[in-house]
Amino acid sequence: MIRDKRIPTPKYLVDLNAIKKELAFIEKKEDGIHIGATTTLYEISQSFLHKDKRFAGFVDVFKLFGTMALRMEATIAGNIVSATQYNDYITLLLVYDAKLRIKSIDGERIVKLEDFLIDKRKVDLKPNELIYEVIIPEPPEKSSSSFYKFDRRRLLIAGVVTGAAFLHLEDNKIADVRISFDMVREKRIPARAKKTEEFLKGKEFSEEIIVKAAEEVLPTEMERVTDWWTTAEYRMDMSKVVLKRNLLRAYERIKG
Ligand SMILES: Cc1cc2nc3c(=O)[nH]c(=O)nc-3n(C[C@H](O)[C@H](O)[C@H](O)COP(=O)(O)OP(=O)(O)OC[C@H]3O[C@@H](n4cnc5c(N)ncnc54)[C@H](O)[C@@H]3O)c2cc1C
Repeated sequence: MIRDKRIPTPKYLVDLNAIKKELAFIEKKEDGIHIGATTTLYEISQSFLHKDKRFAGFVDVFKLFGTMALRMEATIAGNIVSATQYNDYITLLLVYDAKLRIKSIDGERIVKLEDFLIDKRKVDLKPNELIYEVIIPEPPEKSSSSFYKFDRRRLLIAGVVTGAAFLHLEDNKIADVRISFDMVREKRIPARAKKTEEFLKGKEFSEEIIVKAAEEVLPTEMERVTDWWTTAEYRMDMSKVVLKRNLLRAYERIKG
């Protein structure tokens, strides 16, 4: 599906409110956490996800998301299909390795969120398909996440830089780490910083190694853009800060 024209001209308009109740759920199953497509951000905030430190990044995103009125109405699938670098739940869900169950009258398929996102406002969704649910593999013990959105304003921020990190420790060793930003390179859509992840994996967690990852490794895989908000250089500098803060905060959450 391509949504790159500003004025939509649909032949038919489908109102999902009729199936809102059926698709609004948050359930723990054997293969992970299932979040129904029409679950609102407010409903997520009322669930166990906001009480479990392994999902701490969900609380961070919620607090920084638009206005309270928007949080009451916006759905998880709506945020994902909007598919821009300013869709914060995408940035967060990428570090949880989220998958989407997509249904149509022809059947269903499961696709990794990462593969679903093709480019800005372009997603792997056919006209007759609907996202049914988001599936997050259950994170292990001794794991947590963090999400930061940085802008000069305090309210209704679009984000000069947005980033998320997921960290799993074994003793003090980084057993697993996932890092995402509103964009990493070329595509103007959230993506994972996988080179930086690979650098960190298996290393002892220390402030020194985090600084090295942010200052030396991240810039080798990241390209920032200049727009009317700010310059590429400033965005790059703030990306390093966001990465350091996210990893340190996730670490403190695991230890705390
Ligand atoms: C003032 C303002 C501030 C904002 N601040 C933020 C912010 O801080 N962070 C942020 O991330 N976003 C922000 N947004 C963007 C917006 O609120 C989100 O993108 C919102 O999550 C959209 O969700 P929705 O449920 O309203 O989706 P809709 O607008 O109803 O739908 C968006 C798209 O998703 C498709 N869609 C919806 N559900 C499904 C489904 N189940 N299957 C297939 N396709 C589907 C629709 O057809 C449509 O193309 C802001 C918007 C405004 C106006």
